[in-house]
Amino acid sequence: MLKPKVLLVNDHAASLLALKSLLTRTNPEGDYDVVTAQSGEEALRMVLHQRFAVILLDVNMPGMDGFQTAEIIHSHPRSASVPIIFVTAHYADEMKRLKGYQKGAVDYLFTPIIPQVLQNKVAVFVELAKKNLQLEQQTRELAELNRDLQVQQMQDLKHINATLEAEIVERRQAEERAHGLATRDPLTGLLNRRSLVDSLEHAIARSERNNEGMALLFLDMDRFKTINDTLGHDVGDELLMQVAARLKLAVRESDMVARLGGDEFVVLMEGLPAYPDAAEVANKIIQANAATYDIGVHCLKTSVSIGISLYPQDGDSVQALMKNADLAMYHAKQQQRGTVQFFHEELNVRLLERIQLEHELQQALENDEFELYYQPKVEIVSGRVAGVEALLRWNHPRLGLIGAGQFISEAEDSGQLVPIGEWVISAACAQAKRWHDAASGICKMPIAINIAIPQIHAELPDAILKALRKHGIPPSCLQLEITESLLIRDLEKATSVLREISESGITIAIDDFGTGYSSLSVLKALPIDILKIDQSFVRDLGKTVSDTAIVAAIVNMARALALRVVAEGVETKEQLAILKGLGCDEYQGFFFKPPLPADVLIQQLRHTANV
Ligand code: C2E
Ligand code: MG
Ligand code: MG
Repeated sequence: MLKPKVLLVNDHAASLLALKSLLTRTNPEGDYDVVTAQSGEEALRMVLHQRFAVILLDVNMPGMDGFQTAEIIHSHPRSASVPIIFVTAHYADEMKRLKGYQKGAVDYLFTPIIPQVLQNKVAVFVELAKKNLQLEQQTRELAELNRDLQVQQMQDLKHINATLEAEIVERRQAEERAHGLATRDPLTGLLNRRSLVDSLEHAIARSERNNEGMALLFLDMDRFKTINDTLGHDVGDELLMQVAARLKLAVRESDMVARLGGDEFVVLMEGLPAYPDAAEVANKIIQANAATYDIGVHCLKTSVSIGISLYPQDGDSVQALMKNADLAMYHAKQQQRGTVQFFHEELNVRLLERIQLEHELQQALENDEFELYYQPKVEIVSGRVAGVEALLRWNHPRLGLIGAGQFISEAEDSGQLVPIGEWVISAACAQAKRWHDAASGICKMPIAINIAIPQIHAELPDAILKALRKHGIPPSCLQLEITESLLIRDLEKATSVLREISESGITIAIDDFGTGYSSLSVLKALPIDILKIDQSFVRDLGKTVSDTAIVAAIVNMARALALRVVAEGVETKEQLAILKGLGCDEYQGFFFKPPLPADVLIQQLRHTANV
């Protein structure tokens, strides 16, 4: 601990020494240190840097006297409370003594000083200073202790927190494990019956709220029991696991897949799965199960039968949907194992038709059942025919003439689109050549052909150029129409192929524009020349303000991008008048002509002198 200090101030060296030796003598224990100063100024400097238990201050000093020195010492906050004892060699009068007290003296002594008196007085202040120093020391120690305590407390708290967090994680994991056990099928990891029922209840509520449809696929493996009985349960279990894995791969991430037990599975598709979607997924599942299963030394073949119920038409409760999908599955098994049946009979008829149509499509090319019809596009301002669109027709042996809309998606699903597309390109080129040779006015006008996305692959530009060369017609005779919504789905690939086609001199139109939500940047990036406004906007022209506004916006946008605009599906004089007012370039639709066979069209156009 620090020792208290006593400051002696006296200008007279001998007096200073005498006083110092007196104090040293009376302080054999060395309870305090004695420091000396020979002037008021020196004393002030010392007081600035050191603390004193008491100051013995000579009153009469040259320069700054004792009173002035005392006044300055007490005016400074650091030394305001230091006790000062005035010492004077003369017997001063009472006035001086009073002044001393006024200057803050704690005492006033006269020389010669009685050693015991001085010793006692100094001892009192030294003791006080010691107490003060002790107190400060204790306060410091206490503060330090407090800090340590706080650090310790903080550490303890952190520790407790970490332990708690670990415990929470552990508990959550345990809960998840327990929940997993309760909701999952332990063999396949799929949802179990109980959680399927729960999920289905929620899904029904959601679908009702959002006014959406839903499909429930009930799957049952064919001949599973035989495999299980003859090859053993281990093989059966492994097969179930592999079937579950293929099932998960065949459906969308968002579809729910559950194992009800045994060899029964359920797939739940939410969010408007229209009937063809459900049939498509069911077919995908059937195909996924067609490949053999390798289990140990066994190479197994199995199939699944699927029954489908749709919400809301086939039931609006868990029980009804499950029961009806199960019934449909049973029906499938009875009809033919490894097939799909809808609960609703009409859908089964349609499904069957679809399958039959796909089958018949395979013969249609061979049997030369396709034909191109042509629908003119008319320049609105001049009324002149600006070109024609080739639209595919199928002279179906059973159903008669059917439009592209009725079989294009089946053609796509059965992989027939590319060969049919090639036929269309070739037939359109042949027609262009015929018109060219006949020197009719229409020969100068391009034929637009529709191209579906699966046709847009690296070989397409070459196939088109080959057809043009083969028939000896220039690229300006051909236009391509690509549906907007489909284009957006695979933009990158489409852009490079279309660029190549565009560079060869063939114009490109975006068909059904407005249905695909293309952004301006997409439109700018694509090598397109024409926008065809979708019929759905044209239909209500003049009836709803918003459709008129949309068409006006499309026309303006096309202007900004330097594209021509064609309105599709114009059926009335009124629609045409509005389109004219909006500044649309061309129109197409029943109002002028429906799609017609080439010769009929030419005849009619000659008749009306449009060519
Ligand atoms: P799209 O290219 O938008 O063709 C216009 C459709 O609207 C045609 O139906 C046409 O017959 C019909 N249409 C024309 N004017 C009017 C009208 O005033 N009112 C109404 N309501 N409809 C009108 P279509 O021929 O059944 O073709 C349907 C779609 O099938 C076409 O739509 C096109 O995307 C596709 N398609 C047609 N031919 C081919 C083809 O050769 N290849 C490919 N890949 N797709 C084709
Ligand atoms: Mg078209
Ligand atoms: Mg269209």
